Amino acid sequence: MGLIVQKYGGTSVGTPERIKRVAQRIIQRKKAGNQLVATVSAMGDRTDQLVNLANQVSDNPPQREYDMLLSTGEQESVALLAMAINSLGEEVVSLTGSQAGITTNDLHTKAEILNINPERIETELAEDKIVIIAGFQGMTNKGDITTLGRGGSDTTAVAIATSLRADLCEIYTDVDGVYTADPRIVEDAAKIKEISYDEMLELASLGANVLHPRSVEIAKDNKIELMVKSSFCCIPGTYIKEENKLEDKLLVSGVTCDKDQVKLSLIGVPDQPGIASNIFTKLAKSCINVDMIIQNVDYDELNDITFTVSKDDFLAAKEILESMEDDLDYTELKSDDTLSKVSIVGAGMVTNPGVAARMFTALGANDVNIEMISTSEIKVSCLINAEDSDRAIRAIHQEFNLSEQDD
Ligand code: ADP
Ligand code: ASP
Ligand code: MG
Repeated sequence: MGLIVQKYGGTSVGTPERIKRVAQRIIQRKKAGNQLVATVSAMGDRTDQLVNLANQVSDNPPQREYDMLLSTGEQESVALLAMAINSLGEEVVSLTGSQAGITTNDLHTKAEILNINPERIETELAEDKIVIIAGFQGMTNKGDITTLGRGGSDTTAVAIATSLRADLCEIYTDVDGVYTADPRIVEDAAKIKEISYDEMLELASLGANVLHPRSVEIAKDNKIELMVKSSFCCIPGTYIKEENKLEDKLLVSGVTCDKDQVKLSLIGVPDQPGIASNIFTKLAKSCINVDMIIQNVDYDELNDITFTVSKDDFLAAKEILESMEDDLDYTELKSDDTLSKVSIVGAGMVTNPGVAARMFTALGANDVNIEMISTSEIKVSCLINAEDSDRAIRAIHQEFNLSEQDD
């Protein structure tokens, strides 16, 4: 018994039939004596359809208008779900992000939640209603609609759970938990029963899009335990919580792939102090997240600086570098968008040497060339040719015997 926040992803509410099934699930939990708040994504691939529409009328849609458009997907699904619940005789209200009190900054298309005023939600709950909230959206202080980045409904759910101090936050999706690799790519991937916030944060940030990275960050900061499970069956899912310090840490918990990568190379940059600071400060000021970076000292006191950004940030990054051409005095700016980043994540690798070497060996044995490498205490990432991604993930998964994982 308690206050439960649930989130249903796009596939789970992809058809009227599925919406009706979700309605029944929600009512069942309510009838068991709980208060229910559910966050919902847009139906099926509605958000992709809206992106497609925007691209048909403009080569470069203004980001404010893009958010106006994309947020309608969730407005549609919450209204339909509320209708379905109402038709089953339960009291219910649907709310947009702003009606639910969600305020964000003004970084359109990747806004961050600044604050949630839960008053309206609490009033509706006090009247014994089920509350359905549009995921993925909020509103700036100025009153403009924003979206939280693709996959952002997870973040809405966790932020709402935090602000309501919910007893439970359940993320319902189209897989029955978090796996050692994307089960669509690795057939024998194993379901992970429990995983720490830190490992889940790395997996999500490195391409395991079963959870939006920001949702894991908020859960970690506020100690909200998450359960990822299937909306199509009743078996237990994956529990995401604080690390159990007494348990043996797994060498590798999972393998991920991020195809959203573009490599930019500045060729022939003068080898002088301050150059890298100049480049990366300018990019940071435009909120462009730079990922892997390498610098080769080349010839005649010139360097090549290479780094990766997400595909969404590529055009903006390129424009900034072009505008700095006189300043940086580089000889050429190159880009490559045919790459992807494969990564391994595991809390145990920090105390076990040789993990990275095993990953490189698996890639080499399968003829996969590595372009760039980056590491942290709990992950190793390699930038490779996108065409090799699936083969690379399967090879690494096998190298670390992840299908036999039983934690
Ligand atoms: P939703 O619409 O419910 O938010 P998503 O498509 O965003 O669903 O996320 C679920 C998908 O994430 C799965 O269908 C799966 O293909 C993919 N995925 C990628 N990596 C993993 C992983 N390690 N474990 C589980 N699913 C993963
Ligand atoms: N509908 C949005 C998307 O497709 C948000 C979400 O599903 O979480 O990215
Ligand atoms: Mg998602």
